[in-house]
Amino acid sequence: MSSIFTSIIAGEIPCHRVWEDDQHLAFLDINPIRPGHCLVIPKREISYIFDMEETEYTALWNAVRTVEKKIRNATGCQRVVVSVVGWEVPHVHVHLIPTDEMANFPAPASCDFDASEFSTLAARITEAKE
Ligand code: AMP
Repeated sequence: MSSIFTSIIAGEIPCHRVWEDDQHLAFLDINPIRPGHCLVIPKREISYIFDMEETEYTALWNAVRTVEKKIRNATGCQRVVVSVVGWEVPHVHVHLIPTDEMANFPAPASCDFDASEFSTLAARITEAKE
């Protein structure tokens, strides 16, 4: 089953497009965290960003940089925060959120973590296969 973003690319569902090229589309998020919150997506449907081919992956981040500049120029914001989540829509998308202060991007609270576990966890990740 194709994703809602594939339907947007196909023109079956409307969006507020802000930029596109052959491989990517950028449009306003329908439920913005801040005015000007955009999503940049690859036109080829793939669920998980880290499963992308190297060239596709690099091209996506170049597209993100293009759209970031446009958002900053349009909104006059100080920083565009980037986030990749993907739990709601399983089609790669990078969130670009214009911000002027930390409070503009509400981060999740830190977890309750036992500090004695840091070394064990770091060692486990260090030794894990790439
Ligand atoms: P996530 O998969 O958790 O990164 O969230 C998916 C994002 O897509 C949310 O921020 C939604 O508001 C956004 N979204 C879902 N449907 C649409 C749509 N039709 N047009 C624009 N944004 C959408």
